[in-house]
Amino acid sequence: MHNASPHELLQSLPQVEEVLHAPCVRALETKLPRASLVQAVRDAIGAARSAILAGSSVEADPALIAADAATRGLALTRPSLRRVINASGVIIHTNLGRSVLAPAAARAVADVAWGYSTLEYDTGAMARGSRHAHCEKLICALTGAEAAIAVNNNAAAVMMVLSEFARGHKAVVSRGELVEIGGSFRIPDIMALSDAAMVEVGTTNKTHPRDYALAVDDDTAMLLKVHPSNYRLIGFTESVPVRELRSIADAANARRAGGGVETLVYEDQGSGAFAALPCFGDYAEPTVAESLRQGADIVSFSGDKLLGGPQAGIIVGSKRLIDRLKANPLARALRLDKMTLAALEATLRLYLDEERAVREIPTLRMLCETADDVRPRAERLAHALAEAAGGAARIDIVSEISRAGGGALPMCDIPTWAVQVSFVRGDALSCERHLICERDVPVVCRIKKDAVLLDARTILDDDEIAEAARAFGEYFEEARA
Ligand SMILES: *Cc1c(COP(=O)(O)O)cnc(C)c1O
Repeated sequence: MHNASPHELLQSLPQVEEVLHAPCVRALETKLPRASLVQAVRDAIGAARSAILAGSSVEADPALIAADAATRGLALTRPSLRRVINASGVIIHTNLGRSVLAPAAARAVADVAWGYSTLEYDTGAMARGSRHAHCEKLICALTGAEAAIAVNNNAAAVMMVLSEFARGHKAVVSRGELVEIGGSFRIPDIMALSDAAMVEVGTTNKTHPRDYALAVDDDTAMLLKVHPSNYRLIGFTESVPVRELRSIADAANARRAGGGVETLVYEDQGSGAFAALPCFGDYAEPTVAESLRQGADIVSFSGDKLLGGPQAGIIVGSKRLIDRLKANPLARALRLDKMTLAALEATLRLYLDEERAVREIPTLRMLCETADDVRPRAERLAHALAEAAGGAARIDIVSEISRAGGGALPMCDIPTWAVQVSFVRGDALSCERHLICERDVPVVCRIKKDAVLLDARTILDDDEIAEAARAFGEYFEEARA
């Protein structure tokens, strides 16, 4: 066969009509509107054209393009957002939806989804109510705050706090805390967006109380403390605790004696630990309640990190300040929907009994389980995988490390048991491809050397063990062929 030039290849690309007549595309005529089918065909031809222009020596084979069009069309009929089995050992896995809801929270979501609800209806007053009311009392009871508001996520919370309290004024922040939290959320950018003038103090590794004190002037509306979530400075470091920021703010406010701008202390806690769980050991994050007790005026944190609830950003503080946030137009733009509110309320209610919270909130349970607790699950998984593999792989139970993830407890090594699949037939890379690309319920695991590792800590139940074993079974079946 001669090597066709790119020009010849482009010339030989099939017409849309031709691809539409291919049997595998026509088979979709009853499943998809014609416009969607035509679009899928155009996309497939377009992809082939781009590949040719990029120098790929693919053939402009109409059958391959038709198959690609059919795959693209079929993709529309399949759920894109779907369940995944997380065997990675990363508990708050941002790519996999962070926290798994407690059963009570998932039921609460279903309840308000299937029917009408009291979202903005006060049954006591038999009148219009506020959606902010559902979670506020619980948050206050659990943190000791006077008032609270929950919004779309913590990034939204930070933006709202900065624009309400620091817009047009100065906000002082340590150079050691100018963090990027991921997904292009950077403290300096969010400052700029909210029209707060950022004043950086200290150095990357050390910031002292006097750095803040010297930076404060009559236009300083905020001392901002950002929890360095996803990284740690170790070695020669110093940061200023909330208690000291409180004294600095108090001194500044006293100097102004009620005139001019008020200097507030705001801590963006990020992960938002609610319970001081002994299992976090030396790495325990400060709880929201502690931050408030130390004198923060406002604290904000995520709903789906250490709290273990739905995506949300929670802001706590005095009634005077939270009332201002409630009146900010952003509160309307960033408000929570009924399903999230239902999940959040149900999750928070579980915290009224801390032992129950640890038992029923998956994020907490997985963080607190010891390696011994995980072991029986690893054994059941190993057993199921050995059965699925036949002689196609060696299955071992190995000691490993799980991670909290979600930017929480970055230094915390959580000992665990993982199942290691070493391949006799097939290999780790093609197996991983099968587990992720070919499954309705993808299985996300880790690869170490030439083996696939499945951490039993983040596998939720025996159904997931059975499903993972099925996935491996089908991979080995294909590898035999
Ligand atoms: C995670 C995090 C955020 C962003 O919270 P989201 O709920 O993901 O929007 C903001 N600040 C800190 C310190 C964080 O750790």
